[in-house]
Amino acid sequence: MDLTFTPEQQTFRRELQEWFTEHGPKGRLDSPYSEPGYSQHLEWEHALHEAGWAAPSWPAEVGGQGVDAWAELIYDEEYARFRLPERLNKMGLIHGGPTVMAHGTEQQKSEWLPGILTCEDIWCQGFSEPGAGSDLAAVRTTGRIKGDAMIVDGQKIWTSQGIIATTMFALVRTDQESRGHRGLTFVIIDLRSPGVEIRPLGQLHGNPGFAEVFFSGVEVPVANVIGEVGDGWHVASTSLALERGTARGSHTRMEQALVDLARDTAATGASGASVRRLGELAAWVAAYEQAAYASTHEIATGRGKDYASVIKMLGTQILTAVHEENLEVLGADAEVMADHGPNAEMYGMRRNYWHGRGAEIYAGSNEIQRNIIAERQLGLPKEPRG
Ligand SMILES: Cc1cc2nc3c(=O)[nH]c(=O)nc-3n(C[C@H](O)[C@H](O)[C@H](O)COP(=O)(O)OP(=O)(O)OC[C@H]3O[C@@H](n4cnc5c(N)ncnc54)[C@H](O)[C@@H]3O)c2cc1C
Repeated sequence: MDLTFTPEQQTFRRELQEWFTEHGPKGRLDSPYSEPGYSQHLEWEHALHEAGWAAPSWPAEVGGQGVDAWAELIYDEEYARFRLPERLNKMGLIHGGPTVMAHGTEQQKSEWLPGILTCEDIWCQGFSEPGAGSDLAAVRTTGRIKGDAMIVDGQKIWTSQGIIATTMFALVRTDQESRGHRGLTFVIIDLRSPGVEIRPLGQLHGNPGFAEVFFSGVEVPVANVIGEVGDGWHVASTSLALERGTARGSHTRMEQALVDLARDTAATGASGASVRRLGELAAWVAAYEQAAYASTHEIATGRGKDYASVIKMLGTQILTAVHEENLEVLGADAEVMADHGPNAEMYGMRRNYWHGRGAEIYAGSNEIQRNIIAERQLGLPKEPRG
């Protein structure tokens, strides 16, 4: 694997850096869950879209530039390096939209993809239910098909972005007699439809955004089914692999977290033990970067060796280790969570820590990733079912 960036890739990186320097928000934006913050994020998203930088890897016909996996990696690295705002429509961009590209019809692609880039539609993921988290095959929300409509009843939970979302890609059970993976269908639901109720849920780090979503006789066109009715497990697997498997600049964010840790370690009077720990973490971050590059190489060469679970598990594990060390170094100061003021960065550490702990659970918990790596990739015996 050759890890030297080509002159074209270096030019792409420079152009991006110049554009981000000139057009990137000059200060921190308010929370997208506040009215002013939502408008600020929307303005940033529109600027990206108008300049063709909303999703460069998407095909040109739907508003992207059709760049390859390496250019996408460069984009994600620079986006993270410039510490630009978290994307408003990240679930549409990372997995919802690309799942439609992989399994949708031409009509579905032209209907939904442009709205993701303009943020006219904000997408969220409706997989988890109170009784179906790790075991998604236990999904109980029903989709009863009557002519051209599907009537959806049930409940989804832990819906990220749920309080601002307009559109959900969901797994529902269309065959009421079925059990497990069979009889599930992947469908796009307009959350503005009658019968949808969205209730906000608080999170440990204090950020709003999470929701539980209730469906009561919600009418959804059957034309919104992605793939075949009953083949939802297959379509959802694409979505989950996209969610877990693309590093999305996480190695760059880790490097930044490491730099912050080094700064705090120096400022608080470094002990020999904390410097040693910093060195260990730096080695882990370097190893993770190589895994992210290896995964990109697989995607770029179309070989598709599956790094998704390794990327997801290692990425979240290392970030938690860096945050934990930072909490240790900061001591009591790290107990305070604040978004504003001169010490906001430092006082945001506890918030970052909680956010990172959530990442170990979402997109399939790290225990589930270990099962996948052991059983599917290493061919070890399956865990006994109780
Ligand atoms: C921050 C955050 C954002 C999220 N966003 C979304 C979202 O947008 N949309 C969505 O649909 N869901 C979302 N989720 C839900 C997430 O996917 C689930 O929480 C996750 O899949 C675990 O399911 P559960 O909470 O029901 O835990 P459970 O499945 O009940 O698991 C409980 C514990 O048991 C362990 N466990 C379970 N089964 C096994 C097994 N077979 N082997 C070993 N250990 C096992 C788990 O690892 C976990 O530690 C989000 C979660 C978080 C924390």
